[in-house]
Amino acid sequence: MSVSKKRIVVKVGTSTITNDSGNVDIRSLDHLCRALSGVENLGYDLVLVSSGAIAVGAGKMRLAQKPKEIRLKQAAAAVGQTELMHLYDKFFGEYNRMVGQILLDNADFCNPARSENLKNTFDALLENHIIPIVNENDSVSHTEIESDKKLFSDNDMLSALVAIFCNASKLIIFSDIDGLYDGNPKTDPNAKVISRVEEITEELKSVASGSGSNRGTGGMITKLEAAELATSHGIDVLITNGKNPEKLYDIIEKKKVGTLFVAKEQ
Ligand code: GLU
Repeated sequence: MSVSKKRIVVKVGTSTITNDSGNVDIRSLDHLCRALSGVENLGYDLVLVSSGAIAVGAGKMRLAQKPKEIRLKQAAAAVGQTELMHLYDKFFGEYNRMVGQILLDNADFCNPARSENLKNTFDALLENHIIPIVNENDSVSHTEIESDKKLFSDNDMLSALVAIFCNASKLIIFSDIDGLYDGNPKTDPNAKVISRVEEITEELKSVASGSGSNRGTGGMITKLEAAELATSHGIDVLITNGKNPEKLYDIIEKKKVGTLFVAKEQ
């Protein structure tokens, strides 16, 4: 299937759209919606994969901390997803954009009838200039949160699958880190962002996972896995800091931003 030059999937992590107290970072969300609307005006079709439901729900439910118990996580996701969509609808509405919510589970990609429906829904939304906003259906599924039997186990991998399903040409992952570093930036002050990666090698993966933990460089290992999958399907992947969503303009103008993982020739 050919890659659509004009389709871009953008993934935002919880840390980009919430603040330290776990509440929605209204300013960041507004900036994100404004930049995405501006890029859409330039003729691109956009799909947003947004995390944040559990954190936002936990904040709204006034839980002392992010829940550990699965049923409480699912309850928080139910509350937070509603809040997030309310805010996305409101902010995108200010820029005259329509949004549609798509909540997904592994079965939506694995079951042929469901995946066909999913493709059709993405196409219909995009043809009508509606921005699909995707998350895992956390309140009824817990693959992301707990299970081992899964095609995707986090929103990084989910965003790669969505990019493949939508025939996107580019996947942009907004993180709380500037890109893939050549060392661990938390312990090595000389660590630098690698601007271009042609091949995701085992060596790169071990740099990304730091000292055996995927937390050392800000969850970079799941991003590398997502990048590996998407690039193997001909999709460029860009990982950069979500603090400044205006960077989207630079990215589509092919300026040097974050780390670019170059798509494989198809
Ligand atoms: N689906 C989770 C949420 O919305 C986030 C999981 C992730 O960040 O990978 O809270």
